[in-house]
Amino acid sequence: MTSLVSDRSNDPGSFDIVVVGGGVGGTLAATLLGRAGYTVCLIDYHAVYPPDFRAEHLDGPQIGQLRRLGFLDDLTLGLYRGETVTLARAGRIVGTSGTINYGLRYEDLVNRARAALPPEVRTVIGRVAQVDTSDTIQRVRLSDGGMITGRLVVLATGQGQAIGKALGIGRRLIRQAHSLTFGFDIEPIGDTCFEHSFLVYQREQIRDRIDYLAAFTMGATTRVNLFTYRDYKEPWTRAFMADPAAGLRGTLPGLASVMGAYRPTGPVVGRPIDLYTSERHRRDGVVMIGDAFQAACPATGMGMVRLLTDVEQLTALHIPRWLRTPGMNAAKIGSFYDDPVKRSCDEKALHDSEYRRALSTEQRPIWRLHRGRIRTMQTMARWWHRQPALSYPRISADPPGDMAGDPARA
Ligand SMILES: Cc1cc2nc3c(=O)[nH]c(=O)nc-3n(C[C@H](O)[C@H](O)[C@H](O)COP(=O)(O)OP(=O)(O)OC[C@H]3O[C@@H](n4cnc5c(N)ncnc54)[C@H](O)[C@@H]3O)c2cc1C
Repeated sequence: MTSLVSDRSNDPGSFDIVVVGGGVGGTLAATLLGRAGYTVCLIDYHAVYPPDFRAEHLDGPQIGQLRRLGFLDDLTLGLYRGETVTLARAGRIVGTSGTINYGLRYEDLVNRARAALPPEVRTVIGRVAQVDTSDTIQRVRLSDGGMITGRLVVLATGQGQAIGKALGIGRRLIRQAHSLTFGFDIEPIGDTCFEHSFLVYQREQIRDRIDYLAAFTMGATTRVNLFTYRDYKEPWTRAFMADPAAGLRGTLPGLASVMGAYRPTGPVVGRPIDLYTSERHRRDGVVMIGDAFQAACPATGMGMVRLLTDVEQLTALHIPRWLRTPGMNAAKIGSFYDDPVKRSCDEKALHDSEYRRALSTEQRPIWRLHRGRIRTMQTMARWWHRQPALSYPRISADPPGDMAGDPARA
């Protein structure tokens, strides 16, 4: 396993950029900045990123983004490469379309990213206790008393809010416990194997508050992510986690007709997410990326898309401009938050998060009509094209089929 190497015996000195948080966002940003020749320090309290249930599948626009940034090969070397996605609902296959995709655990993704850090990036294992910012120099204090300085701090601390809060940065909660995602392995029963390496199976009944189930190859197993709008504390959740086979039979009874007989194996993890965005974030000396700035519902796949957009726009466009002139005031930093590419990606992530939830739970007639329209379009595409280029529920850069006529946009 690759670890961040502690370099605390020497005075780490001063850097162009100090990145706080070595999850996927901070690590990829540090890599690109190091490759560009800046002096960079990356700080995280985990030497090796620990097991963590988060994004487990790379697909859709994330693949193009990772390729463009030069990370795709390092992050996916040796993994099974899926080339199609099969969309199914109500016990029937709706269509299959081409899409490159890979399954891997989040901790493996982060640790692979860390393994690709260039040697020029100084890595420090430690907990950042405080960040003191100004329009010239930033001071990052570690909990053991160590201090690291830089011209700019990139805050990539994920969902943790402590450092931002201490800087006066607020978090606007859009919806607490917006969605609940489950992860577990499954295996075929008997002497068979699963036919589809990436299957997306849509909800059957609105009352179940399920969006879709994604089953994909991950190493030697088939992994399931089930995206729901359930409450973590409700009895259904406890029952599902105790007996996922019964839970799936009750909510997605047609799944076995598409996938073949299956049984869940191993533990079920469930993780709720809050939907939030930042406010009062235009500050001297510090910029936020990834989940530190805003969350996306996992069902949209926009968490990684947002994060990669932040990383690309910040490292390719804004930081080089900022470092060309003295000072690092809030007005300079504001150009990142005003970046039209970032803004439209952030807006899309919030919109898609709300849209998918409404599409999966709303009982009002306009949404019933909308769902009916989507089903009709899918069926027509199936008849007319035989091999329809149907988009699956993860939102792509272009509005996919089931976003057309979205009532939330009306
Ligand atoms: C259950 C679940 C499923 C998801 N599924 C998907 C999906 O299918 N597709 C998708 O695109 N997105 C998905 N997401 C979202 C995606 O995982 C996140 O957007 C992404 O992981 C955020 O990465 P990050 O680098 O911003 O933060 P993180 O990966 O959380 O990294 C933050 C880092 O900061 C470090 N840190 C924090 N505070 C300090 C401190 N004080 N000092 C030092 N270090 C510190 C932590 O140790 C950590 O390493 C999912 C999320 C969840 C919760």
